[in-house]
Amino acid sequence: MLADGKQAVLPLSGGTDLLVHWPVRLDDHDRTYVDLSELDELKAHEWTKTHLVLGGRTTYWDVISDARAGNEFPLLVAAARVVGAIQIQTRGTWAGNIVNASPAADGVPVLMAYDALVVLESVNGREEVRLDEFYSGYKAMRRKPDQLIVAIKIPRRSYSFQVFEKVGSRRAQAITKVGLAITRSDAGWRVVANSMAATVRRCTAVERMLEARTPVRAPEDFLPAIEADVTPIDDIRSTADYRRQVMARLLYHDLRGNC
Ligand SMILES: Cc1cc2nc3c(=O)[nH]c(=O)nc-3n(C[C@H](O)[C@H](O)[C@H](O)COP(=O)(O)OP(=O)(O)OC[C@H]3O[C@@H](n4cnc5c(N)ncnc54)[C@H](O)[C@@H]3O)c2cc1C
Repeated sequence: MLADGKQAVLPLSGGTDLLVHWPVRLDDHDRTYVDLSELDELKAHEWTKTHLVLGGRTTYWDVISDARAGNEFPLLVAAARVVGAIQIQTRGTWAGNIVNASPAADGVPVLMAYDALVVLESVNGREEVRLDEFYSGYKAMRRKPDQLIVAIKIPRRSYSFQVFEKVGSRRAQAITKVGLAITRSDAGWRVVANSMAATVRRCTAVERMLEARTPVRAPEDFLPAIEADVTPIDDIRSTADYRRQVMARLLYHDLRGNC
């Protein structure tokens, strides 16, 4: 059905993004949806020698329930636990979070901080795209309409630093105002921000500060790098300036021992 291309066909996984606007967006009723719920081969996640491989239908709850994930990739569990509440965590999928492409997505930053690869497949074949190269603008991405995310591959490494931050109005059922996922491994520092730009974004200027061990004496010392990395907006949840100031304070609080 996806390959047919005659009409816009949408994969439907947990439906926790797709169905939110269903009562008001009547045009959505005329679209064709491909229900993925019977594709059991996309559900399970798998540990290989080199990767944790999430399936195209793996939910937040699948990861929360795997103690090994908590040990090896604690940021996946930390983020999963603050997505909506339990009802959403049991239905919502990591792949749905990636394709919905909200700048406020909480699953995407932790996957990006772990250098995840998105595995896309269609009748024309399979390709792997780095998640930090997947988005090209607001809701614009490397996925073609006929491609399914069939897996998300996360390399297994040892990490000397891992932190996840979500600033919202409440601890549950809150859309992120400022979010961060930070890791350090042999591959270097990864600093990823959500709700700070049109896409979830790797903050390479901040990463360079950390690699260079640039001395930091106050939160404000991070502001030039934040200016270079992200472009927050004013909206009903926060002002751009608030988001920048909060990001600087989070970075200072989390990283001052490392600068
Ligand atoms: C009450 C509520 C609270 C929420 N809270 C949060 C939150 O705190 N943080 C957060 O990040 N999100 C939150 N969300 C949003 C949502 O739950 C997540 O983005 C979730 O991961 C979406 O997954 P899904 O399987 O439900 O996606 P769906 O709604 O099924 O699909 C979303 C998009 O992905 C596409 N898609 C789905 N699976 C695939 C696939 N395998 N291959 C290709 N395309 C695919 C669909 O076509 C659609 O475009 C919330 C939603 C609700 C309703």
